[in-house]
Amino acid sequence: MRNTVERVEVMAYRIPTEEPEPDGTCLWDETVMVAVHLYSKGVRGFGYSYAHASAATLIRDRLGELVRGRDPFDIPGCWLALNGALRNLGDAGIGMMAVAAVDAALWDLKARLLELPLVSLMGGARESVPVYGSGGFTSYTVDKLQRQLAGWVECGIGRVKMKVGRDAGADPERVASARRAIGPEAELMVDANGGYARKEALRLARLFAAQGVTWFEEPVPHRDREGLRLVRDLAPEGMEVSCGEYGFNARYFLDLLRDGCVDVMQADATRCGVTGFLEAASLCRAWQIPLSSHCAPALHLHLCCAAAPVRHLEYFHDHVRIERTLLEGVIEPRDGALFPDLTRHGHGLSLREDEAKRFEI
Ligand SMILES: [Mg+2]
Repeated sequence: MRNTVERVEVMAYRIPTEEPEPDGTCLWDETVMVAVHLYSKGVRGFGYSYAHASAATLIRDRLGELVRGRDPFDIPGCWLALNGALRNLGDAGIGMMAVAAVDAALWDLKARLLELPLVSLMGGARESVPVYGSGGFTSYTVDKLQRQLAGWVECGIGRVKMKVGRDAGADPERVASARRAIGPEAELMVDANGGYARKEALRLARLFAAQGVTWFEEPVPHRDREGLRLVRDLAPEGMEVSCGEYGFNARYFLDLLRDGCVDVMQADATRCGVTGFLEAASLCRAWQIPLSSHCAPALHLHLCCAAAPVRHLEYFHDHVRIERTLLEGVIEPRDGALFPDLTRHGHGLSLREDEAKRFEI
């Protein structure tokens, strides 16, 4: 008998950060999780995005009715309807984050109705996914930066990422202090969040390479595709350029690939959807470019075990903290990797509603 989505629930939670957190170009002191529950035959699918509370309003007022009554197995049909609803609202940004939360809930619901782990529904490419520790905000003292990055390395996570791009004069010394803390073996990655101009980025690439930095994320603003290509082509040997976290649709990923902007693509399923993440993976496969997931580590675990071109998953400090607090079923890294719990259905996550109450908007 046909399944249908019988009920749609949406909630938004505002979680303050430990302290104001800056990167190269932004400053934030809170994170909003928009959470969706879809119900069918007594089974509940759960999805979420890190977005703005207005994404919850859009789901409540418009997107929810587009999936209500539909077969949750027909994810491509739901995907077309949800994307179609954004035509006049703009097919990126907050609207797409709302679509992404509903899409994640649909995938989870489908897997739970079939009593399968999500990775088994999608088809597994690997048993676990390597992670990298990610934090190192530009406001951290050298001591705090060193303790955070070294802490991950001590836990067996052999690659770590820090923020740069706020103060080009101070960044080389911050990066050198990070290298001293993590030792010569660990992989050191930097993310400028588009904070440098083209030639500044090239100059810093050489200084970072002297500290063994192997990953330079968004050296220039992500819309400057010629600039990304320039840095990628002229960066020292052994340094990869990455970008893609602001990708809301397949066309964005295609443009980065076709213009030769990245050595490694990034994609974020809380922005492009689980469906969009798989689309990005197919494009990366065609271009022979590896893929790395951005933020929301708990949500990406099963997708990263299923998508063939995935190299690793970003184990982002803020979201690790939020997901440990608000979600049940979160997996902790073992030997620098995350292994999905295959005894659980769907992505294996559920919202701790009692815990979440105090953050409700
Ligand atoms: Mg980034």
